[in-house]
Amino acid sequence: MKVTEYFERSAGTTLTSFEVLPPLKGGSMQDIFDILDPLMEFKPPFVDVTYHREEFVYKMQTSGYYEKTAIRKRPGTVGICASIMHRYGVDAVPHLICGGFSIEETENALIDLHFLGINNVLALRGDARQFEDKFTPEPNGHKFAVDLVRQIQDMNNGVYLDANIDKGSKTEFCIGVAAYPEKHFEAPNLDQDIKYLKEKVNAGASYIVTQMFFDNKKYFEFVDKCRAAGIDVPIVPGLKPLTRKYQLNSIPRKFFINFPEELVKEVAKTDEKNINQVGIEWCIAQSKELKAAGVPCLHYYTMGDSNTTIKIASSL
Ligand code: FAD
Repeated sequence: MKVTEYFERSAGTTLTSFEVLPPLKGGSMQDIFDILDPLMEFKPPFVDVTYHREEFVYKMQTSGYYEKTAIRKRPGTVGICASIMHRYGVDAVPHLICGGFSIEETENALIDLHFLGINNVLALRGDARQFEDKFTPEPNGHKFAVDLVRQIQDMNNGVYLDANIDKGSKTEFCIGVAAYPEKHFEAPNLDQDIKYLKEKVNAGASYIVTQMFFDNKKYFEFVDKCRAAGIDVPIVPGLKPLTRKYQLNSIPRKFFINFPEELVKEVAKTDEKNINQVGIEWCIAQSKELKAAGVPCLHYYTMGDSNTTIKIASSL
């Protein structure tokens, strides 16, 4: 079923969904099952699986020279999605990115998903590779997520890249896109970022998932701005609990978000061993307020840690 159909059928009840990362190469499907098995009691209608593009590493050759080699540390998104659907009977939402894909490769990836009966996809641009200072599309690849949304929507209309295909089989993808209540780090300002977000919706995206945030006010204000800009699709809040003290610095550096002063103060006066509890309580309070406000779904970034997510979800 499509993610948006779950929202429609929930009749105002807030759903719970989770996001998992593929295990590091060399890991097994059991690593994912170990995270998801205990989370199934919360009846997520869908589970997102992130996509991780290749990174460049320098490997020493027998000649003594270093050679630049592309490796993917976390492959397997599509296989994991199929496996999740098979094991739990829930829908899986693969993340699909522009980075590293030509438009032909994107089309082939979408055909695989379509044949597997996967009808949801989160369409993203992706980030620059490690050690590259800006995102560079593949030659003949998409520059922005909106271009990927357009390609998926074309396939939903039976339009493939090959002009010889007259009446192609229509895919049925429900397309989600990303948004940033505290602005995407490259955007000149939030209003401009929201204009581009609207372009993604106009191109065919039918729901939005936000970057993590720790201050609900930021989410509520963002939703108000989106509505004022004419974006009327569901906006799902993405949540991640703080679990370690060092994350006060690493999360803003990586995700370009701010921590509210109250949380910073609380963390500062807490021993490392109790930080997890502070993070859990904060996330529970956030979740309760968002639920009371009638958000369609609470989407938790598990980041490989189901225990923390269980404590939060079970308190709601
Ligand atoms: P876009 O919507 O393309 O926006 C990127 C930037 O370009 C923004 O600053 C925007 O304002 C600007 N922009 C957009 N359209 C235009 C235009 N037409 N002209 C000029 N400027 C424009 N990354 C992964 O690699 N794998 C994942 O699985 C993954 N999952 C994610 C899930 C969520 C919920 C979120 C919020 C992010 C996720 N990311 C993931 C990270 C994401 O790929 C990065 O944040 C990336 O930098 C931007 O992706 P986007 O889809 O928002 O890009």
